[in-house]
Amino acid sequence: MKIVIDPAKCQGHARCYALSPELFDVDDYGQASVRIEGEVPEALVEVARLAIANCPEFAIAEVD
Ligand code: SF4
Repeated sequence: MKIVIDPAKCQGHARCYALSPELFDVDDYGQASVRIEGEVPEALVEVARLAIANCPEFAIAEVD
């Protein structure tokens, strides 16, 4: 799987970062980004799906 964050939706709650600092970063302005380019490693797929489900702005999406 791959994941993307829609910057227009992200409100910087940092829930994604709290769940997985390996997968997500949040800048000084509260804008989250995905740290990993390309495929999410197998070991982080479960937490990636958890982050998608827990983002209150529905800003994180799984892509093919
Ligand atoms: S949880 Fe969602 S809204 Fe909050 S920082 Fe992460 S991507 Fe942005």
